[in-house]
Amino acid sequence: MKWENQDGKTDIKSLTFAQLQEELAALGEKPFRAQQLYQWMHEKMVRDYDDMSNLPRKLREDLQGHFSYTSLRPVEVQESRLDGTKKFLFALEDGNVVESVWMRYRHGNSVCISSQVGCRMGCRFCASTLGGLVRGLRPSEMLDQIYAISLLTGERVSNVVVMGTGEPLDNYDGLLRFLGMLTDEKGLHISARNVTVSTCGLVPEMRRLAQEKLQITLALSLHAATNEKRRELMPIANRYTIQELTEACRYYFEQTGRRITFEYSLVGGVNDGREDARRLAALAAPLRCHVNLIPVNPIKERDYVQSETGRIQAFKNLLEKNGINVTIRREMGRDIDGACGQLRRSYMQEG
Ligand code: SAH
Repeated sequence: MKWENQDGKTDIKSLTFAQLQEELAALGEKPFRAQQLYQWMHEKMVRDYDDMSNLPRKLREDLQGHFSYTSLRPVEVQESRLDGTKKFLFALEDGNVVESVWMRYRHGNSVCISSQVGCRMGCRFCASTLGGLVRGLRPSEMLDQIYAISLLTGERVSNVVVMGTGEPLDNYDGLLRFLGMLTDEKGLHISARNVTVSTCGLVPEMRRLAQEKLQITLALSLHAATNEKRRELMPIANRYTIQELTEACRYYFEQTGRRITFEYSLVGGVNDGREDARRLAALAAPLRCHVNLIPVNPIKERDYVQSETGRIQAFKNLLEKNGINVTIRREMGRDIDGACGQLRRSYMQEG
């Protein structure tokens, strides 16, 4: 599979190394040129053909004529004074913008990327979905969020989470190519175990992903432990039941040996009671899932509120008493437009 940029030319940065070799052979180039070119794009992460100093000018001109080179342009950067978290807004060539977040943890630097421009999943508490889906990102556009951030921060990225705007499994082919290239030894060579993909729960795609047998972590945004409550928060719950989801999770674990993470955003008075915790524990225990609790980040378009600290702690304790491995997501960058999709949204509303 190949992708095209807006100008109708092949997106060179979304080509696998094997595809690039074929393309250059077709242009009559020697095999080592593919090696050099791939290295410039995916290891040195240069912004343009002109930066590829060991390629002859003639070749660079040919490349320019045949292929499009995707580079994201930062249009806004916010830095948290609390924890150093940085939020980037990038412009794409068609005028759309996407956001990505850089976080420093003890175990290394983590980048959270977007997989689509907007989203069509409609989760009630999420800002990214308010304007609907515009389009899926190409592999190059997902990769370049990480490349651009590496260059801008001057620091190595060791972890990648696909938890920004968009539903990654709704952009399945793009996501898969992206994951392959991200973990490729010829590129950034990030270990698959350091990559997390978060989904609202598209059952057929979860099963398909299981068959790829990647060593990534799959995170399922559960957010409720009964179908009824889940349907109030997430329209996708009308399509797949919790039972179908847990069966898909079991299948994923069987196929890959990787334990699933359940993400659970705590919404005050909605899904944060004792009974909710008990039911969640009953779902997570047989799958030996890790549970990640996220205090909901209120968005102004909806009236959801965060759970009180005491309630969050009680919820966590109850899960732990039931033998569940649980963490509360540290809220990074609270003082910047922290919640999913908020930076892009405020940018578009100003513009
Ligand atoms: N579409 C994917 C990935 C993007 S959202 C998914 O649904 O998993 C990443 C995570 O942030 C999801 O768990 C999502 O439900 C959660 N999220 C979105 N908006 C939020 C908010 N305002 N507060 C807390 N969590 C939120």
